[in-house]
Amino acid sequence: MAMFDSLKDTLNKGVAAVSVKSETLVESSRIKSTISNAQKRMIGEMNELGAKFYNSWKAGQASVEAFSAEFASIQSIEQEIAELNARLEQIKAEEDKILGAAPKPSAPAAGSVFCSNCGKALPAGSRFCDGCGSPVT
Ligand SMILES: [Zn+2]
Repeated sequence: MAMFDSLKDTLNKGVAAVSVKSETLVESSRIKSTISNAQKRMIGEMNELGAKFYNSWKAGQASVEAFSAEFASIQSIEQEIAELNARLEQIKAEEDKILGAAPKPSAPAAGSVFCSNCGKALPAGSRFCDGCGSPVT
């Protein structure tokens, strides 16, 4: 029964890790598409600003001040993208933390027992030495 419980526990933890992974995947891809939209908006506004600026230069009226609203707008999109990227990093870190905390198949600690024949350090619970083949006593 204990063995079954432990197996069930392991499976549950596996399922939890998978669900964490898929939840963060959904959020990550949502953020990535928001970033991509913001980038398109930013490129669009930059193109528009470039054209307006060029035309005003051509008309002999080029002035940075005249376009301060456009500059501010582009800068706010840039800021938005930076925040979204930071959020992505955060999700990645949280995911690593959660998945890193999930139990890994535990290898027996090496060096817990020593072969009485050759003295090799062996994983605890070893029945035979993997160095000389002697039974571990
Ligand atoms: Zn040995």
